[in-house]
Amino acid sequence: MGRDVHPNAVLVIGLGRFGSTLAESLQRLGHDVLAVDTDRDLVQEWSGTLSHVVEADATSEAALRQLGADGFDRAVVSIGVDIEASLLATGTLLDLGVPEVWAKAITRQHGRILERIGASHVVYPERDAGERVAHLLSGRLIDFVEFDKGFAVAKLRAPESICGATMDVVAPRGRFGVTIVGVKRPGTEFTHVVADTVLGREDLIIVTGRTDEVERFAAATG
Ligand code: ADP
Repeated sequence: MGRDVHPNAVLVIGLGRFGSTLAESLQRLGHDVLAVDTDRDLVQEWSGTLSHVVEADATSEAALRQLGADGFDRAVVSIGVDIEASLLATGTLLDLGVPEVWAKAITRQHGRILERIGASHVVYPERDAGERVAHLLSGRLIDFVEFDKGFAVAKLRAPESICGATMDVVAPRGRFGVTIVGVKRPGTEFTHVVADTVLGREDLIIVTGRTDEVERFAAATG
């Protein structure tokens, strides 16, 4: 099977909570998903929802070859608890020449080894969810996403200190280092913020900037 046979396909290894949600979402987004798990009951359970589910051991090169794993451009190893299996499956997929192998890590150490053996992307779903919830719980943030190197986008209610005057006067960038990119007035949709936008206290805003600056901005009340 040549690589170009599966341009939109993703191989998902492991149908635990993360892998099964991922596989289902990818399928909904129009990807052709082949999901693999060693657990017969899980394979059975998911065969009604996912188009292609196979019972196989992803640490076995022969098994992966038989599934045509070498014809995939992208694979995601969603095995967390069994670190040995996670590493072996990742290594085997890389050996088979799959160009993009994503892997889930449950600890920093696990993630470091995955990176060492060549995983293209390492994701930490539990750590990331924990951090996100901490941000949502501890402040005024209604939604929060952090990107590489501490850069974040957040949704929050407009702090009082920047309400009632135009953006060029309140100058959030100069005072807090953040940029306000969107505003949603009660009962309306989000629109872009421009120099003469005046925010009200009931408005929701979208802010971007360094994570610590977004946090400082969110905490500003006066
Ligand atoms: P989660 O926390 O997302 O539920 P788990 O690590 O508990 O993740 O689940 C991993 C899944 O991967 C399980 O369903 C398990 O049966 C499967 N799995 C473990 N080892 C292999 C393997 N060698 N090949 C294929 N699937 C595996």
